[in-house]
Amino acid sequence: MARRKIIAGNWKMNKTPSEAVALVNELKPLVACDDVDVVFCVPAIDIIPVMEAAKGSNIQVGAENMYYEESGAYTGEISPAMLTDVGVKYVVLGHSERREYFAETNETVNKKVLKAFEHGITPIMCCGETLDQREQGVTIDFIRQQIKVGLQNVTADQAKTMVIAYEPIWAIGTGKVATTEQAQEVCAAIRACVGEIYDEATAQAIRIQYGGSVSAASAPELFAQNDIDGGLVGGAALKPDFGKIVNYK
Ligand code: PEP
Repeated sequence: MARRKIIAGNWKMNKTPSEAVALVNELKPLVACDDVDVVFCVPAIDIIPVMEAAKGSNIQVGAENMYYEESGAYTGEISPAMLTDVGVKYVVLGHSERREYFAETNETVNKKVLKAFEHGITPIMCCGETLDQREQGVTIDFIRQQIKVGLQNVTADQAKTMVIAYEPIWAIGTGKVATTEQAQEVCAAIRACVGEIYDEATAQAIRIQYGGSVSAASAPELFAQNDIDGGLVGGAALKPDFGKIVNYK
């Protein structure tokens, strides 16, 4: 069965609520497309206004992070129930910026993935190597560990519905896109790893995105690869170009 592509924007720490509404209004007609899932992952404070602005369109709204506890003394955190209460369906977990600046580990990412599933939120779980790791030849080993720990106690039925984003850290926000071959090779290795953990049916169902300086120019070739089921897009998700990425065919 063909996997439906999923193209998600990661807005990072950009756009005030009023700027966010203006951007959604600008992008809404450009990202209209029946063939792919389109998700805008936005800062927490923008979620409600973006939901309102996106009403009646094909845009689904996701969060950029979430905590793994239900509620309580966790100043500054956002709970899963806070997200589901306003209709959030996706959450980006374990982005490399969260790992680097906010001390997220494979273990905390795993706790968040499990908690997201408990609440019916689809995780977009990120993985990816540094340039040093690539040059040392340990890319696949490193990513297999991220996947294996990130998926601990996740059932096959849950894994089938989730999204993994492969984002080489050296390609994020740098303008350096992985070559199509590099991206396909790692996405295929991720799918094989999922097959080892679960089974072939799960490996074939899970959706794997590539992320890292995706542009309107690079998207068509990247998204045509066998194991690349769409993209997680940072910088270009804030521009009209995102419409071209969504309508890459
Ligand atoms: C990202 O933030 O997940 C990302 C891939 O950013 P960019 O597209 O800007 O490299």
